[in-house]
Amino acid sequence: MAGQAGRRGPVFNPATGEQIAEVEFADVAAVDSAVESAERAFPAWRATSLSRRVEIMFRIRELVSARREQLAAILTLEHGKVTSDALGEIARGLENIEFACGIPQLLKGSFSEQAAAGVDVYSIRQPLGVVIGVTPFNFPAMVPMWVFANAIAAGNTVVLKPSEKDPSASNFLARLLEEAGVPPGVFNVVHGDKVAVDRLLAHPTVQAVSFVGSTAIAKYIYATGTAAGKRVQALGGAKNHMVVLPDADVGAAADAAVSGAFGTAGERCMAVSVVVAVGAVADPLVAAIAERMRTLRVGPGNDPASQMGPLITREHRDKVAGYLAAAEREGAIVVVDGRNPALPGHGFFLGVSLIDRVEPHMSVYRDEIFGPVLCMVRAPSYEQALKLVNDNPYGNGAAIFTRDGGAARRFQYEVQVGMVGINVPIPVPVAYYSFGGWKASLFGDQHMYGPEGVGFFTRGKVVTSRWPDPATSRIDLGFPQNR
Ligand code: NAD
Repeated sequence: MAGQAGRRGPVFNPATGEQIAEVEFADVAAVDSAVESAERAFPAWRATSLSRRVEIMFRIRELVSARREQLAAILTLEHGKVTSDALGEIARGLENIEFACGIPQLLKGSFSEQAAAGVDVYSIRQPLGVVIGVTPFNFPAMVPMWVFANAIAAGNTVVLKPSEKDPSASNFLARLLEEAGVPPGVFNVVHGDKVAVDRLLAHPTVQAVSFVGSTAIAKYIYATGTAAGKRVQALGGAKNHMVVLPDADVGAAADAAVSGAFGTAGERCMAVSVVVAVGAVADPLVAAIAERMRTLRVGPGNDPASQMGPLITREHRDKVAGYLAAAEREGAIVVVDGRNPALPGHGFFLGVSLIDRVEPHMSVYRDEIFGPVLCMVRAPSYEQALKLVNDNPYGNGAAIFTRDGGAARRFQYEVQVGMVGINVPIPVPVAYYSFGGWKASLFGDQHMYGPEGVGFFTRGKVVTSRWPDPATSRIDLGFPQNR
């Protein structure tokens, strides 16, 4: 949907540094017209039978699956991620559509027969109306699927405002939804920036806001949306720790740290950004991680030989590189340095970096870097490692690597994050659980997708109904007391 004000933003191919497109930013009038189209579509969509909605969800599933190569090429072109990461993103998004195909089961209420004489009580869940998604640049296909799969299946109509940095995946998905039989107005995309988001947050028709992005903006969205009386879930940034105990398999832990830290160039909210090495495991672990990093191939995402692509913009690449210089100044040791002048030409490339002897006061530890930089903190004991994780303001994911089931169980009990991996570096829940962090990683009380996603996009109603037995019927003016 185009804006009228003529404001536009550039879209780059991060592998070449070239601007490949412009995206027109929606103004207030364009946002209003998208919301109105969603509002008009809602009554008929809500009334559409569950079996028809399921049929359409199955068709969306088939179309996204069949066109995954095309969608992956769009992700690689505008985001930069390597093809295998792009296909992985689509697979994880598809899980959510598959989950939403079970919506008749998920919307089932409960029923209590004969709560009082002739009285039955039952609960139902109903859609909210027009709901919005505001999504980040790093998963331009998966995060929109997190939002729209359950929202649409539950009978809502959706306005999606994707990241302006890589907008084409949303347009592609919108076309597939149309082809699958989603009626006009049920799924709408508006492109833009703060102007569009602010209008959506203020629009009286909008009932709920599902946001994924950085912590500063998540806080703003939560405060603004809830002040306007809307239901809001706002997922923010992260600083995910991977604790490695002295008994861990060093090779397996090093493999996990490398894939967890550098997949999608570290631009993942669940990326491992800090390895906490407990006791004597630190030296062999640093050596094993560094050895693996030196063989990683960085290059354009569409080159099958590349294992890691570029960062999203030149400014972001330079900001991430700046953390390496800061870490050196603050006394940490750069073991592997990603500032490599041999990397390809004008693209937004940065190699992988490992920084050892990081301490909590350093900027490289405090900030979410969102790039291919892995910090190593050395902790003398499990208790110190746990304290470090729990003192961190973020609480998205955390992992522990150990051979000791009792230690893993204790960690799972004590750690203050929303998602825990045990010998798994990136514990993104499957679509039939829900995704969400604690503390500064999530504002709101319902996690994203899965059962909590269905809860977020519906509201409950409880019906108390009396159908007296005609044989014994009599007038009763009070609350049911004839137990
Ligand atoms: P971002 O916060 O800059 O942008 C997210 C969305 O908000 C975009 O659609 C953007 O247009 C919009 N936006 C930006 N500034 C705004 C403003 N001032 N007012 C209103 N809207 C605004 O995030 P990003 O850089 O696109 O994505 C990276 C961030 O997202 C990282 O912090 C990452 O950890 C986080 N993230 C979190 C999760 C999670 O599940 N917790 C998942 C993916 C990404």
